[in-house]
Amino acid sequence: MKHTEISYEVQRLELKHSWNLSRGSWDFKENVIVRLTREGISGWGEAAPNSRYDETPESTVALVEKAAEGLAALHPAEYVRFGEAIQQLGDGQTAAKAALDMALMDWVGKSFKTPLHRFWGLSAAETPITTLTIGIDTPEVIREKVNEAKDFPILKIKLGSRDDREIIAAVRAVTDKPLCVDANEGWKDRETALRNIKWLAGENVVFVEQPMPAAMLDDIAWVRQRASLPLIADESVKQGSEIPQLAAAFDGINIKVMKSGGLQEALRMIWMAKTLGLKVMLGCMVETSLGISAAAALSPLVDYADLDGHLLIKNDPYRGIAIDGGKIVLNDMFGVGVVER
Ligand code: MG
Repeated sequence: MKHTEISYEVQRLELKHSWNLSRGSWDFKENVIVRLTREGISGWGEAAPNSRYDETPESTVALVEKAAEGLAALHPAEYVRFGEAIQQLGDGQTAAKAALDMALMDWVGKSFKTPLHRFWGLSAAETPITTLTIGIDTPEVIREKVNEAKDFPILKIKLGSRDDREIIAAVRAVTDKPLCVDANEGWKDRETALRNIKWLAGENVVFVEQPMPAAMLDDIAWVRQRASLPLIADESVKQGSEIPQLAAAFDGINIKVMKSGGLQEALRMIWMAKTLGLKVMLGCMVETSLGISAAAALSPLVDYADLDGHLLIKNDPYRGIAIDGGKIVLNDMFGVGVVER
């Protein structure tokens, strides 16, 4: 075969619990699995389209089909050039680009016969502890989920609804573990955000993620000057070009492969954030073990990890990283490091 073949399938993922955020609720998720084949080697990637960023399975498939036509002549061993061509396929649709770049880097790892973390010179011993996320729910279900999460030393709690106090009270009724809090843009004015952060500072909270809407950057900077907990940007940052303008409003950024448009951009973002003195968190969407294992290959570089998306799925089609007492455990398989179940 003298060209690079790109194919895809839409994968319906059933969720263990309905997934509730301050912006909506879901019982299943449709992700797109991409395969990039050349010289008998097949690299795999995953897209988790997110409505927050105007992405659907259909828009994702459309970009992958465009890539299959436009990138066939490029050789994946030249992954830097290939990766640039993926980013130039059009505006937005970073989940689709992430799947293509992930399949590309999986191909590279398999072709060069090395796990991706080793390809990047990272030590598997230096992986962080990942949080387990507890979505917005009734106090009864929250207590149940916190009890189910007994192996995880740090939990991430979704806030940003009118029930914030009840949610934290439910968590604190069953555990005194440190918590990370994610408001998902749910606090709509700076006084509310500051009041909530001051309260959370007394609740053994490590940091607060995206307290206010991304568009309210000046208000977030105002809150940060008065808040005693670190603020981490999530919805405020997708790609590296947006990082410099955030440095005054946030203490760190949550990098997600799906937002960045690929592993190569995520790696650049990690170094850019470190250069600017920002803390780095590595997060995820609801993804199978394919997407999570790919992100985990970068995890030895980061301060905080929230790589639990695969644990929310009933029918994960892949087996990849393990989690032991909350610590991410990489394996020695080539590329991203997953096999089909
Ligand atoms: Mg978040």
